[in-house]
Amino acid sequence: MSKHGVLVVGSITADLTAFGSKRPRPGETILGTDFTLVLGGKGANQAVAAARAGAPTSMVGCVGDDLFQEVVLTGLREEGVDTSHVSVVQGPTGIAHIRVDGAGENDIVMVPLANSSLSEERVEAAVRRAQDRTGVLLLQLEIPLAAAAHAARVAHGLGIMVVLDPAPAADPGDAVWAFADVVTPNESEATALTGIEVFDKSSAYKAAEWFLDRGVGRAVITLGGQGCVSVDRDGVSEHRAFPATAVDTTAAGDAFAGNLGASLAAGMAWDGALTRAMAAGALAVTIPGASPSLPMAGAVTDLLVRHGLETRNA
Ligand code: ADP
Repeated sequence: MSKHGVLVVGSITADLTAFGSKRPRPGETILGTDFTLVLGGKGANQAVAAARAGAPTSMVGCVGDDLFQEVVLTGLREEGVDTSHVSVVQGPTGIAHIRVDGAGENDIVMVPLANSSLSEERVEAAVRRAQDRTGVLLLQLEIPLAAAAHAARVAHGLGIMVVLDPAPAADPGDAVWAFADVVTPNESEATALTGIEVFDKSSAYKAAEWFLDRGVGRAVITLGGQGCVSVDRDGVSEHRAFPATAVDTTAAGDAFAGNLGASLAAGMAWDGALTRAMAAGALAVTIPGASPSLPMAGAVTDLLVRHGLETRNA
């Protein structure tokens, strides 16, 4: 069986966003201007990104048995993400409560709820069932750390490439790093995890070494509009970002991870996969919102063609 699939072990939330000209001060009530209810969660966003990138994608996670279950499962299925490894547990679905003001500034309370039920047993069963069609496991840290660590351990043992986005920054335990073929922290996550203040390429190299010292195969530190640096045992490389007019940087990292995973699972060599991931990140910042900004494979190819990095139908 072909192992071109991407398996995403991660969070699934209903994102409830209230828009207004300003955000309320503590204790204040204000009238807003708009409201949206959409699928979210770092795990689900990366699954949607991988599916739009063209990979057969399966999601592993937990949702509740409430009203929001339908919203999130439909959201995943409409994107072609396989939800047969998503468990429905008693209680509420995870939510993100988001407020956005007129300047586009936001604040977010993410409540894990059903995501807390993602156990080591559930994760292991799903990874084993999907192993014959899975080339890459995408992992983030919005789920219980023990489940994330176990997913990495089991997948690594089965020869599945593990791509860990350590976001939000949390210590998943020292043993995990050796099971990660690739880690993709952004600058603030790299700073929080390593204790090295990351603000430019040279500090990013130092932080990358921290991950390699702990057994990671390759560390990619993403630097927003400054691009990224990539370090493995054979050497270091730095990559300039594609020029983009940023209107909302939400989900750039998820577009990046989803496209990296999809490209690697499709058998693409590292440099090509990284280029597609960076192009997807650049496209994501040009469109507001999380899932609406995740690009389709064709848009990524178009950007690469415009930059002379790919020929159409090649
Ligand atoms: P996160 O969303 O996790 O903070 P980053 O902002 O570092 O992740 O973005 C991931 C990648 O997306 C970057 O390495 C870069 O290639 C691309 N990217 C992000 N922001 C921009 C931008 N303003 N212009 C061009 N590319 C960007």
